[in-house]
Amino acid sequence: MAARRHSTAVDVGGMVVGGGRPIVVQSMTNTDTADADATAIQVARLAHAGSELVRITVNTEAAAAAVPEIVRKVRGLGAAVPIVGDFHYNGHQLLARFPETARALAKYRINPGNVGSGRHHDGHFTDIVRVAVDNAKPVRIGVNWGSLDQAVLAELMDANAKQAEPREARLVMIEAMVESAIRSAELAEATGLAHDRIILSAKVSGVRDLVEVYRRLAARGDYALHLGLTEAGMGMKGIVASSAGLSLLLAEGIGDTIRVSITPEPGGDRTEEVAVAQQVLQSLGIRSFLPQVTSCPGCGRTTSTYFQELARDVQTYLRDQMPAWREKHPGVEELRVAVMGCVVNGPGESKHADIGISLPGTFEDPVAPVFIDGALDRTLRGDHIVDEFKVILENYVERRFPSHP
Ligand code: SF4
Repeated sequence: MAARRHSTAVDVGGMVVGGGRPIVVQSMTNTDTADADATAIQVARLAHAGSELVRITVNTEAAAAAVPEIVRKVRGLGAAVPIVGDFHYNGHQLLARFPETARALAKYRINPGNVGSGRHHDGHFTDIVRVAVDNAKPVRIGVNWGSLDQAVLAELMDANAKQAEPREARLVMIEAMVESAIRSAELAEATGLAHDRIILSAKVSGVRDLVEVYRRLAARGDYALHLGLTEAGMGMKGIVASSAGLSLLLAEGIGDTIRVSITPEPGGDRTEEVAVAQQVLQSLGIRSFLPQVTSCPGCGRTTSTYFQELARDVQTYLRDQMPAWREKHPGVEELRVAVMGCVVNGPGESKHADIGISLPGTFEDPVAPVFIDGALDRTLRGDHIVDEFKVILENYVERRFPSHP
C-alpha cells in the first residue's frame, strides 16, 4: 500500500473528509425525497449500517420542501449522520427558493455537466456556490461521464484533432472529466468558496477508466477526493467491479471518501452498498468495521452442508452482535475468527485467528477443536457445537475487549 496522498480536510457537517482522516463511507438513498417518512427511515437505516454521510436527491420543489423535515425526522430516529443534497439542472433555483433546505443540508453536490449550457452554465454554477458560501457549506463537484460538460469535451476534442498525432478518444474524454472538475473548482474558489470546502469526484463506469481519471485528478492538486465507480451494476458484477476499482486507487493512497453504487435487487436492501464499502476498506486493512471470519471454501472432504451452515451462522451472529458490542467492547471490530471445514488447514488457520474452530471432515472423528489465541482450548462434540461456540465467542469478547469503566 502506498502512503496516503495529501489532501485538504473538508468538514461536512462534523464529519471530516480528507486531511489524512479515516476514509469516510457514504451512501445514497433511493426513496422519493418528497416522501419525508420513507426517506428519513432509509437515511437512518443507512446510518445504522455504518454510512457516515448520506446523500439524498433534491430534484423537485416537493423534494426540496421535504428536506428540513427529513433532517428533523432522522435526528428523531437517533441518527446524527450529515445529509447531503444531490442537485442537477435546477439546483440554483431550488436552493434559492428553499433557504431552510440550504441550511439543513450538510453539503451540496453539483454536477458541472448538469447546470445548464452556454451562457447559463457558469451563472447557474456560481449561483449554487454563492448559496454554499452564504451558508458556510462545502460542495462536491461531481463530474460524471454520463453527463460530462459538453463544452469542455468539445474544446479538448477540437484541440486533440489538430494535433499531429491525436490521442485516442477515451483519453481525451478522461482528460475532459479532469478539466471539468478542476476548472469548476477554480471557478468555485474565484466565486468565494474556500479551498477547504471543496471535494471532487469524476466517476465513470469502467474500472480501467476510473483508475486513470482519478490518478490524473489526484495529480492536479490537493482537493479531497470522493471515489466511486458510477453505475457499477447489479449483484456480483457491481460488487466486484466496485471493489476492483476502489481497491486499485486506495492501494495507491488515492481517495478520502468512498461510495459503492450498486443496483439493488427489486425490494433489496439498500444498506448492501454500505456493507460492501466497509468490506473493501477492511479487506485492504485500511479500517475495521466488523469482526472478520476466515472460512475455507469447503471441498470433497465436507460433503454435508453443516460446515457452510456454521460459517454462515457465525457470520450472522457476529453481525447481529455488533451494534451492542461496538458500544460495550471497544476494539471488537478487530476480532478475527476462523471457521474451517476439516483437519487439513483447519487447525493451522484457526491458530492464526484470535479464535477458531475446525470442524470434522467427512471421514474424521466427529469432534471440533477450538483454538484461542493460537492454542488448543477445548474440543467440542455432539449436537450443540454451534451454540457452544457462540458462548465461547461471547466470553472471549468479554475478556479480550473489556468495557470501559
Ligand atoms: S480446510 Fe479441509 S474442507 Fe476446507 S477446503 Fe481445505 S481441505 Fe477442504
